[in-house]
Amino acid sequence: MQVIGPKALRLARQAIVACADCPRLRTYCTAVARTKRAAYRDDAYWGRPVPGYGDPAARIFILGLAPAAHGANRTGRVFTGDGRGGSGDFLMGALHRAGLANIPTSQTVDDGLRLRNVFVGAAARCAPPANKPTPEEVAACRRHLAAEIAALPDLRVMVALGKIAWDAWLAFVGEHAPLPRPRPVFGHGAVAHLAAPGARGPERLILVGCFHPSRQNTHTGRVTAAMYEECFGLVTYLAGIDARRSKADVKSHA
Ligand code: SF4
Repeated sequence: MQVIGPKALRLARQAIVACADCPRLRTYCTAVARTKRAAYRDDAYWGRPVPGYGDPAARIFILGLAPAAHGANRTGRVFTGDGRGGSGDFLMGALHRAGLANIPTSQTVDDGLRLRNVFVGAAARCAPPANKPTPEEVAACRRHLAAEIAALPDLRVMVALGKIAWDAWLAFVGEHAPLPRPRPVFGHGAVAHLAAPGARGPERLILVGCFHPSRQNTHTGRVTAAMYEECFGLVTYLAGIDARRSKADVKSHA
């Protein structure tokens, strides 16, 4: 019998946290956790692989790249703690405006953040040197993505934050079903229907591309709050979420 829902998510989480399949990444993460950044010298770094986080009834899966060395690798929660105005705050700000998060920031694991209709994961669950996992490391981590996807039966939309996440999702879907030809091309706001209606595997999810909310993108104006607002407006529509109701619900958890 296939296990789904919170119990399956717990099992996926345990497998992720215990994973040691990529020696280069494990060595790097534990070294960062030991040496620390001066600003965080009093923090106990997480230093282990970082599982996904969010609503077990999610309709939307947001797929990032990998934990930041002094962000999620420090706090243990995806897109959390990479500094004020970092990618976590930018993403949660957009989710908050879309009625998908109860607060607009993501700095500490005890901040009370609750996601509604959304689950957030990453293509690689260990922080990589220079923020660049190798293709082999992303491929090795697909089994953890598979476990989380299998545990979330209500998913309808996959949001890929950046080309690496987009390609990781296509590679994963390609293990289950033939991919459309030509292969869908990543872009901000790109939408790809990978299967005909009625498909039951991961290919059933509508794929949406979104530029990554890295500081490099948000601080140079390549990615703006308006672009994210538009993108998540589209995503909530594709997921069949009533934005007004979701905003009211999430406010009651603020
Ligand atoms: S990146 Fe993924 S597969 Fe590799 S060690 Fe971390 S959790 Fe395991």
